[in-house]
Amino acid sequence: VIKPKDFYKYKQGVLHAEGVSVERILKQFGSPVYIYSQSALVKPLQALKRALKPLHATPCFAVKSNSNIAILNLLKSEGAGMDIVSGGELYRCGLVKVPGKDIVFSGVGKTAEEIREGLFYDSNGIFAFNVESIAEISKINDVAKSIGRSAPIALRFNPNVDAKTHPYISTGLKKNKFGISKSNILSHFAWIMELENVELKGISIHIGSQILGLSPLKDAFGSTEKLIIEIEKLAGQKIEFVDLGGGLGIQYKKEKIPDIDAYGKLIKKHFGKGSKIGHALRVIIEPGRVISGNSGILVSKVLFKKQNGTKKFLIIDAGMNDLIRPALYQSYHEIVPVRKAFSNAPFDSYEIVGPVCESSDCFGSTRKFSKKIDSEDSVAILSAGAYGFTMANQYNSRPLPPEVLVSGSNYRLIRERQDYSDLVSGEQI
Ligand SMILES: *Cc1c(COP(=O)(O)O)cnc(C)c1O
Repeated sequence: VIKPKDFYKYKQGVLHAEGVSVERILKQFGSPVYIYSQSALVKPLQALKRALKPLHATPCFAVKSNSNIAILNLLKSEGAGMDIVSGGELYRCGLVKVPGKDIVFSGVGKTAEEIREGLFYDSNGIFAFNVESIAEISKINDVAKSIGRSAPIALRFNPNVDAKTHPYISTGLKKNKFGISKSNILSHFAWIMELENVELKGISIHIGSQILGLSPLKDAFGSTEKLIIEIEKLAGQKIEFVDLGGGLGIQYKKEKIPDIDAYGKLIKKHFGKGSKIGHALRVIIEPGRVISGNSGILVSKVLFKKQNGTKKFLIIDAGMNDLIRPALYQSYHEIVPVRKAFSNAPFDSYEIVGPVCESSDCFGSTRKFSKKIDSEDSVAILSAGAYGFTMANQYNSRPLPPEVLVSGSNYRLIRERQDYSDLVSGEQI
């Protein structure tokens, strides 16, 4: 289990990211600031790779969870492929030279332009488009035909499985917009096989995010294994790969999370030697949060302390625009003081809120900090590496914060803080 506290520890009373003082980073780059631990990024990736041995398996990092190009470059150099959901993410992959054979393109609404970019990427194109509707298959066929190519596709199967997570990040139910139902796949199968400019290579699934138990995945893997057997019979040919999506949960509070080795075993049971499919397939997984989530923290200065009625507030200089998860999903993030002394009694109980003009701009409720904490002190919001910076926006005309990557006692800026001119870039009076 990867915990933020393995990478973010107090030394001489000050929070450190690996070997670097968070106060030093604050001093140099200002507040608020995102900080990532390199070893926290690499460890889960390596654990996944180990757990999938000896399969021909590729973890394709879900770029949308954290798309900074320094992080993509790091993960690529550690053997990850990429799972993308837009042409913009493909562009990022190109900047760090991720090989096309290690890129899968998911998403319910690909445009013709994005499909073309996928086909032309790295001259030979990406590994596969995970198609999410019958209409999309038609469109990919048309685009591929117009440039005289054949497009590799995987059908994203909607297994109608409840991932038992927050409804906004649940994607594997029949009522969700994602994937294609089994009956729809089967009724269009002959048509798909006849298309001249798409080549059916795989089946993909992704049932949701922050999944805390393996049982929904077990159900989804079982249905997928069955579907592959049926399809191979119908097609009279082998399916080359299966893409099992992402979704592994991480510890934000004290949740019990899926064990990576048990996850690997489950995959091997359904798609390895023991599988009823009867031949080897390439296995792709699309981990996002499990790699990036606990690598990152958002550090923010306390601006003011105030009291309204019985409620005590710590107003910090990070807002919901910098980290939207608590406002959007009512998600919990642990918040710790940068100076350890402020986690000591006597306590007060605080609402940790940002400056944005919305009451949902709240990072945590009834959090205990020392009565002594006050303006100029700072706090770290933990587990902010996934869907943190990538979901940040400029609401209230707030420039995006900088990002810093730490490795041991080294650190470097991997994205500059925006300034006011960035706010109006492209605008015209
Ligand atoms: C978001 C997403 C992922 C990553 O999900 P995590 O929960 O971050 O692992 C993987 N695959 C697809 C298709 C996605 O949309």
